[in-house]
Amino acid sequence: MFRRDMPPEATPGGWLIRMNDEGVAPDAAGDGFLDYVDTWPHGALRLGYWQDEPVAVSPETGGAEEGMASWPAAREWLAMTSAGHGELLATALQVVRWARDHRFCGRCGHETRRLMHEFAMQCDHCSLRGYPRISPCIITLVTFGREMLLARSPRFPPRRYSTLAGFIEPGEAVEAAIRREVMEEVGVDVGRVSFFKSQSWPFPHSLMMGFFAEATSRRIHIDGVEIADAAWFTPERVPELPPIYSISRQLIETHRSAVATR
Ligand SMILES: [Zn+2]
Repeated sequence: MFRRDMPPEATPGGWLIRMNDEGVAPDAAGDGFLDYVDTWPHGALRLGYWQDEPVAVSPETGGAEEGMASWPAAREWLAMTSAGHGELLATALQVVRWARDHRFCGRCGHETRRLMHEFAMQCDHCSLRGYPRISPCIITLVTFGREMLLARSPRFPPRRYSTLAGFIEPGEAVEAAIRREVMEEVGVDVGRVSFFKSQSWPFPHSLMMGFFAEATSRRIHIDGVEIADAAWFTPERVPELPPIYSISRQLIETHRSAVATR
């Protein structure tokens, strides 16, 4: 589906995704976000190949133009597209943001230029090379036997509960981040952790790494800042949960079906 080798610089056109700060443009057919064009617009960023044809993304500004503001948000596209389309769109979103936010060198302040064979910005003044930023996050379902620890953030929609998540800090191992986050947010000790799967979350550049974590203590003590409430839930009686395409929900459903068949 999506192949990550870079089309030659002289490639005139191919598949095109158009996006602005608000959303992603529907294609001519209206049911996707990919149009085939003979000539990409100026400023289009090549991404790779989609179904063996070159694909690029065009960042568009000037949201005041007719129709621009009504483009569906990227989150809406990700909720309804296939995994392959989702990977392509997540790449486009992150590359556009990176190209926009790294036009100048972070070390010496000179203008950077995009290298053509990979996603890299080169500073010709001090030789610093910058790559798209990817921020690894852990997301973890804490379990105690059949029960699941779910929590709600003050930012969540009313009644929504989810798994725990947090960014990995500089110098920190993934397993250590899981133990620290769980302790900080709900005061629970974690024993064995096991990897589930990962998912790109391009808002703006997270890589969610999903884990199951077995609690060795049950008593919950919430921090009251990042977490507004937390509780143990049985698989049969769960609160309102995140959408099914989220890794959080997939952790929950995987655990529910695993313990239901016992
Ligand atoms: Zn520099």
